[in-house]
Amino acid sequence: MKERPISVRTRELLSQYGIQLKKSLGQNFLTDPHVLDKIIQAALLTEKSGVIEIGPGIGALTERLAETAQKVVAIEIDNRFIPILKKLFENESRVEIINEDALKVDLNNIINEHFQGADTLHVVANLPYYVTSPILVRLLEQRLSLTNIVIMIQKEVADRLKATPGTKDYSSLSVLVQYYAEVREVAHVPSHVFVPRPQVDSSVVCLTLRKKPEVQVLHEYEFFKIVRAAFAQRRKTLLNSLHSNLLSAFSKKEVEGWIAEAGIDPKRRGETLSLQEFAALTEVIHRNRF
Ligand code: SAM
Repeated sequence: MKERPISVRTRELLSQYGIQLKKSLGQNFLTDPHVLDKIIQAALLTEKSGVIEIGPGIGALTERLAETAQKVVAIEIDNRFIPILKKLFENESRVEIINEDALKVDLNNIINEHFQGADTLHVVANLPYYVTSPILVRLLEQRLSLTNIVIMIQKEVADRLKATPGTKDYSSLSVLVQYYAEVREVAHVPSHVFVPRPQVDSSVVCLTLRKKPEVQVLHEYEFFKIVRAAFAQRRKTLLNSLHSNLLSAFSKKEVEGWIAEAGIDPKRRGETLSLQEFAALTEVIHRNRF
């Protein structure tokens, strides 16, 4: 018998359980099996892989992950989907459903509890768009021992993740992500393959975690503070941005001297600096300020 399309199955399940999708929770469900294929291929899973899925919804991606990986832990905030997921995976010991907020749940605990036997760890998700950045920051800053993160995100955010210095999309998020990971756009996904259809197109992005960060930074906390201050007011020069957003306790002359000491023209804009330049600047500011 021919399998029913995912779009039909999705609509049927939602109506059977009387569920209206919530825009506020980023509930746009993927209905294209080819996109699911691309996500699975990009994650490079093996039968010894552990996967954390964020936002399984009614389990379209979860099912595919469970076909390949050793164990899938799916974290879903909306309790209306939990009975559907529990039923779908009642005979599947490789899938664990957790009814939690991915921004609050202890990810290290999940890894210790569920992935002891795994050779590689992955996060794979069609992310709720309203929390893409905080989730990404959380995943990267916690330095979980992940091989990769394969996520569906808004195309516009994907452009920011891979942006290079001096371009309009280059932001503090670009620096943070590129510091920890190599970014590759795997697929462009048009909005019509989702139910309901979002306003914008999406991209599947694979972040391959670096064994060590892209640049050597001894004072990471300060590095990211400096990056954020440099991008805080994009129309200002680096000198003015750093002075007004981070270093107002010092004279402009001093700050100007530190920027020059790092080999950077203080009149440049923060958004033109490479990771290496931000690293050099951090070391000079650290030496003088702390
Ligand atoms: N995985 C499904 C798919 O691909 O069709 C659904 C993806 S939908 C874009 C995002 C899912 O994330 C929804 O099921 C939503 O309820 C869930 N979600 C939203 N915020 C969340 C959070 N903070 N923690 C965990 N799940 C969340």
